[in-house]
Amino acid sequence: MAIRLFNTYSRALEEFRPLDPAGREVKMYTCGPTVYSHAHIGNFRAYLFEDLLQRHLESRGFEVRRVMNITDVDDKTIRGSREAGVPLAEFTASFKKAFFEDLDTLRIKRADSFPEATDPREIAKMIEMIGTLMERGLAYQAEDKSVYFRINKFPDYGKLAHFNLEELRSTGRVKSDEYDKEHIGDFALWKAWDEADGPVKWESPWGEGRPGWHIECSAMATQLLGDQLDIHCGGVDNIFPHHEAEIAQTEGCTGKKFVRYWMHCAHLMVDGQKMAKSLGNFYTLRDVIAKGYSGPEVRYALMRVHYRAPLNFTWEGMEEARAAIARVDDWRRRLGDVAREAPSSELATASPSGGGLQAPKKSQVASSNEEFQSELDEDLNISGALGVLFETIRETNRRIDAREMGAEEATAWLKWWERVDQVLRIGGEQMQIPAEIAKLAEARAQARLAKDWRKSDELRDELAARGWEARDTKDGQKITRRGGT
Ligand SMILES: [Zn+2]
Repeated sequence: MAIRLFNTYSRALEEFRPLDPAGREVKMYTCGPTVYSHAHIGNFRAYLFEDLLQRHLESRGFEVRRVMNITDVDDKTIRGSREAGVPLAEFTASFKKAFFEDLDTLRIKRADSFPEATDPREIAKMIEMIGTLMERGLAYQAEDKSVYFRINKFPDYGKLAHFNLEELRSTGRVKSDEYDKEHIGDFALWKAWDEADGPVKWESPWGEGRPGWHIECSAMATQLLGDQLDIHCGGVDNIFPHHEAEIAQTEGCTGKKFVRYWMHCAHLMVDGQKMAKSLGNFYTLRDVIAKGYSGPEVRYALMRVHYRAPLNFTWEGMEEARAAIARVDDWRRRLGDVAREAPSSELATASPSGGGLQAPKKSQVASSNEEFQSELDEDLNISGALGVLFETIRETNRRIDAREMGAEEATAWLKWWERVDQVLRIGGEQMQIPAEIAKLAEARAQARLAKDWRKSDELRDELAARGWEARDTKDGQKITRRGGT
């Protein structure tokens, strides 16, 4: 098996090989949130793609060391704290806390570290890097006292985004109102203090000020992971100028290739349009959860489309996610029921094949496992991997229906699912039925015993209105989240 990943730098699929000579350790840097508001579902689409990548690499035996930064000083955070009338650190603290809660809701694995831009150790590293760039003639202090990167001195500038400096000049991608820069594409490494910054400032050899956003990531990545990374991820919005600038700054300091594989997640649309507050289609994770969806349902909805394809978020899509997860949970319960059954001679003779239960299909379990993983090996082909999962569910459900499956085989499939769910993390491991739902369900079971069909139907509707489904099986009533099969 070989893992192939699409590298934005080369615009090609490349076989993944980490820098570690032993081929085990993977150094991964992922651009994190700017903590001035609650992260929106587009942000989480990117974080979920990164989570899937990390989990898949780990399932293939790699040891991933991941860093995700927290941007807690920039124009937006400063503006927010001024508007709220509270100090910057106090303003960002609540959004940091919310961000970690959201990660847990979506079952996103925590990075090994979450450095914060305002950490004195990180600020010192940023100042050190800017100093190196000044010494090498790659940076200069302009009339406004801010320090800029001199992109004309870095021949590779534009290679990640695949455009050249002339294009940059003519497309007007960079606003040209900063009259004192040498080139309109030159970006700030150190922003000189001005009144709008209020008390937010640090001392530096170039006067009081604060770091630019791009240098924050270069400093935190190299401080914690070293000069060279295996994988650097983000959303496509980050390619230019943020990641282009990260390359220029870091390679300008170290003289070494900064990142081996650049990976970027495509946009998220909502109802076919770009998400925007003005269009009323702007959702934070909390907005979606408030509509009654669970973390795993949102996780599934944001993860099920290949990361390089645009994802159109819709409420029908959320219902599909709910149905898909209910189907998985229902299947697991059925496997659990079979796994708990002692091998019984009665069941064996009842088998339609007449020859009793088939031997556990271990080879089939192994091949499903390999198929699932190889789909993800190919640039995280999630649709293919989910296809393997749902085909397996269909086929094993058929065998359960036909009473062809014994306890041992069911146990083998449950183990397979545990491995799969280490990567997907969509299974409802604690499918807790709330007390009020359990009470309604019990009342309905009693009504059925009393053959009070009208009352039983009323209670079924009542359960449905609360998002639960009552099904009558040969083993009695089963309660599941609505949307199940
Ligand atoms: Zn970044």
